[in-house]
Amino acid sequence: MTAHVPKKHLGQNFLVDPNIKNKIIAACRLQKDDIVLEIGPGPGALTRIIAAQVKTLYAVETDARFCEDLKRDPDLEAVKVIHGDILKYDLKSLPPGTKVIGNLPYYISSPIIERLIGHRSIFPQCFLTVQWEFGRRLTAQPHTKDYGSLSCFAQYYGDVKILFKIPPAAFRPAPRVVSCFVAITSREPQIKAHNEPLLFDIIRTAFQQRRKKISNSLKTFANRETLAEIFAKCRINAGDRAENLSLADYIRITNAFPPRLQTSA
Ligand code: SAM
Repeated sequence: MTAHVPKKHLGQNFLVDPNIKNKIIAACRLQKDDIVLEIGPGPGALTRIIAAQVKTLYAVETDARFCEDLKRDPDLEAVKVIHGDILKYDLKSLPPGTKVIGNLPYYISSPIIERLIGHRSIFPQCFLTVQWEFGRRLTAQPHTKDYGSLSCFAQYYGDVKILFKIPPAAFRPAPRVVSCFVAITSREPQIKAHNEPLLFDIIRTAFQQRRKKISNSLKTFANRETLAEIFAKCRINAGDRAENLSLADYIRITNAFPPRLQTSA
């Protein structure tokens, strides 16, 4: 395959370390009848190995140079190479049960993960390489600086695990940051919010002002008396800050909102 000059603005840091490639593939536990979506195949470091092990592989890549190379490669004839933007590609066209694998372009990790979670009925498992700090935010627990709305969103809809760290030297060109490989497994919420848009609106608002007391940051949602009643009912200390509340606390707060105030989003 032709060696193309990497485009920095497309997050092109290509995986070159064979041990890490093998670790990634082993972690995905591919089966012969798997249908896989690969995000950003680039020159195909993972594409070749995945294609040899699964039934169907869709590979969505925005850089036309790599799409042409992949389409011309006789070993990859069966791969459905799609030239497009993963943020626009019609994910609903993929069969339910599709596994997602991707060494993500870091500049759009957040919107990609939001989209994948938004289509979780199609994707039971996502295996993704992300920046280490981003992986920490996805898996963070209350009372830590990494804990925020991304942690709550990802953990509401799935189990998120960091499987291993990946050093910059595993890529060419080497990024300036450490990376990690994460697995997101979709599941039903452990406690369901009656109004999910309101839940995420409350969480986002709380973390936008993470230094403020929760009683202050949520005052756009209800008057002081109503908020005090909600906190008392949920046994939440109104003096707590956003990062002190668990996801379960936010769900209880949302579910305690009186019906007349369940109007968010
Ligand atoms: N999978 C290859 C590897 O592991 O070496 C390449 C990974 S590289 C970090 C990210 C890849 O995503 C690049 O090939 C880049 O062109 C592609 N990419 C960037 N933005 C994209 C987008 N919006 N939609 C699809 N692919 C994109």
